[in-house]
Amino acid sequence: MARAAVPIPAMGLLSDARGRPLRDLRISVTDRCNFRCSYCMPKEVFDSRHAFLPHSALLSFEEITRLARLFTSHGVRKLRLTGGEPLLRKNVEDLVAMLATLRTPDGEPLDLTLTTNGSLLKRKAVALKAAGLRRVTVSLDALDDAIFQRMNDVGFPVADVLAGIDAALAAGLGPLKVNMVVKRGVNDHEIVPMARHFRERYGPAVVLRFIEFMDVGVTNGWRMDDVVPSSDVLRMLQAAWPLQALEAAAPGETAARWGYDDGRGEIGLISSVTQAFCHDCNRARLSTEGQLFLCLFASQGHDLRSLLRDGATDEDITTAIAQVWGAREDRYSELRGSAAAPHPGERRVEMHYIGG
Ligand code: SAM
Ligand code: SF4
Ligand code: SF4
Repeated sequence: MARAAVPIPAMGLLSDARGRPLRDLRISVTDRCNFRCSYCMPKEVFDSRHAFLPHSALLSFEEITRLARLFTSHGVRKLRLTGGEPLLRKNVEDLVAMLATLRTPDGEPLDLTLTTNGSLLKRKAVALKAAGLRRVTVSLDALDDAIFQRMNDVGFPVADVLAGIDAALAAGLGPLKVNMVVKRGVNDHEIVPMARHFRERYGPAVVLRFIEFMDVGVTNGWRMDDVVPSSDVLRMLQAAWPLQALEAAAPGETAARWGYDDGRGEIGLISSVTQAFCHDCNRARLSTEGQLFLCLFASQGHDLRSLLRDGATDEDITTAIAQVWGAREDRYSELRGSAAAPHPGERRVEMHYIGG
């Protein structure tokens, strides 16, 4: 769907209390999901008695686009749609088309991406590309069907996600990132087979990234013993192929990049637990109901939906965003385990609500 580009006046770049800019906005478009990954939405907690948000609580596409435009005026250059499972939000491609009209103050389009579990990608890839999506990230924790079905805990077959990846690449949504959360004793023996599959089948068109299992939220029963440190992942991979460290592609990038010696692509290591990267964290997160979160591990958000629905002007909202970001001190991963860390029993936002 072709729409006219929307010019945005510059409102000023922001810097938080630790000198970090705001560059990346992750927007959760639904708190619902058709998977029940144990590290994110364990079945026992997110069952038929769990109250998901009513539709009236969700930001509308117009509200999301307005906020994204105002964030862009404050320096945001990258938008990532997430969830829950973002492809479950009805007509999400219409939202993509609306966001694709936004421009930076220099007239550049934004880097518009989406993270998905891949279950609906085969059906939606062409429409997403046509709407203006640039790339997708697909989460996939194993190639072995039995392990994958156990991890998504709804018996979803791996073949359908692999077909979604092929469809996304065929639609021009590459290069694609594939995210694998590694949990000790559950899927760590899938590390090398996953790397082999993506390297041999796709080369540089797919970048596989290994994510340390994180203590996000309070429902996933996280234990340090279940975390496989990225250094161990790297050791396993290096035993199979020579790898060389690569430069970060962009400031604030979460993954450390390693390239295969023969040029057949690269992998990424996201070490949120063992090597915190808070020092240049430039990400903000907007929840499904319009709460602005400054850290994945925050216990509270800042209510932007009330401003939107109470008739605030663009200036009111950009001022509020500037104030909130200006006071930001968050660095949970750097403090994890230290005396200064938030109390372990404290309520924290859940991953399916805030997105990754
Ligand atoms: N449903 C979509 C998906 O799975 O790609 C988008 C939302 S999901 C919350 C975003 C990312 O967070 C996924 O890549 C998922 O694997 C990751 N994730 C969820 N819980 C996690 C945890 N406890 N530790 C590390 N990564 C986690
Ligand atoms: Fe759903 Fe994604 Fe969470 Fe898995 S990680 S339960 S797919 S939101
Ligand atoms: Fe950013 Fe918070 Fe993660 Fe640190 S812990 S990298 S501040 S989201």
